[in-house]
Amino acid sequence: MKRVDNFNAGPAALPLEVLEEVREELIDFRGTGMSVMEMSHRSKEYEAVHNEAQARLRRLLGIPDDYRVLFLQGGASLQFAMIPMNFLGDGRRALYVLTGAWSEKARDEAVRFGEVVVNDWATAGGYRDIPDRIPEDDGAFAYVHITSNNTIFGTQWPQFPKTLSPLVADMSSDILSRPIEVTDFALIYAGAQKNLGPSGVTVVIAKDEFLAGENANLPTMLRYSTHVKSNSLYNTPPTFAIYIMDRVLAWVERLGGLAAVAERNRKKAALVYEAIDRHPQVYLGHAEKRARSQMNVTFRLASEELERAFLSEAAERGFVGLKGHRSVGGCRASLYNAVPVEAAERLAQFMDDFARRH
Ligand SMILES: *Cc1c(COP(=O)(O)O)cnc(C)c1O
Repeated sequence: MKRVDNFNAGPAALPLEVLEEVREELIDFRGTGMSVMEMSHRSKEYEAVHNEAQARLRRLLGIPDDYRVLFLQGGASLQFAMIPMNFLGDGRRALYVLTGAWSEKARDEAVRFGEVVVNDWATAGGYRDIPDRIPEDDGAFAYVHITSNNTIFGTQWPQFPKTLSPLVADMSSDILSRPIEVTDFALIYAGAQKNLGPSGVTVVIAKDEFLAGENANLPTMLRYSTHVKSNSLYNTPPTFAIYIMDRVLAWVERLGGLAAVAERNRKKAALVYEAIDRHPQVYLGHAEKRARSQMNVTFRLASEELERAFLSEAAERGFVGLKGHRSVGGCRASLYNAVPVEAAERLAQFMDDFARRH
């Protein structure tokens, strides 16, 4: 069996321990004589998994009792639309802070449903930085939308803004990578396929008070209250994805929780950023230092020819997923929770070695 050093941006690396555990339980799930994929989502065995995944998320993130934890489908991309559908209209306005391609996509959906004001401070600089103030926020917005980590450009909010209006965050690519203060947010959403598990499930964490403002005229599946009332079991949820997420959450608990995970992530990111900074004549980091993402390290090489050589040698060494997003080019190393420290060490060593030879 071979396992590569997997720097894919999403879907991305899963912990080997979790994959082994899933393999172990695949055919006969905990003595039931069936796979978890083969059982009713109304069975007590599945419901235990479902509720356990929720409880683990609550413990790990310190989610207070007046917040709901939902498991939805449609990815972060459906949340781009579902949030404004529910909380805009009727003369309400939202503020979108643009920090990259995903926040632009979120904004593009919101303008279909209501009045949108944008903070585009980071746009002109090519999304290398994160604003340290949101001066447009007058407290009268239905919500302020941010993207906590910009997967494509490789920037991340170093600390979150204290907003006057309710704060909504797309945390798809850094949820569970560091401790957060959930009470700073009205709603958090994240597709699972970067830090939480496989694709197919989207986590929404939202405050009751905020959810109370939803639009009651929407189709059943597009109202948050449908999923709150049914404990995310209104229709068939992606049971296998939720089960794997529960195993990933148990793995995070074994690592020591989010403080320990954040420390591990800091170490991995530092290894790769230090390699970039040691060889400024070969590597050029995209992000301003203060806004560097701990999850997605983006960089270019001195020439396109060198970049091609770098990617081809990297592939030969068994490094996977280092090519940057098609929209921006360059290179990107995604260092999500499941990427081991040793993989970042091997990459940094290869980057040193490549720079010395070129
Ligand atoms: C990957 C990603 C998305 C897209 O998620 P889907 O689940 O594919 O819809 C949205 N936002 C961010 C920040 C992402 O990294």
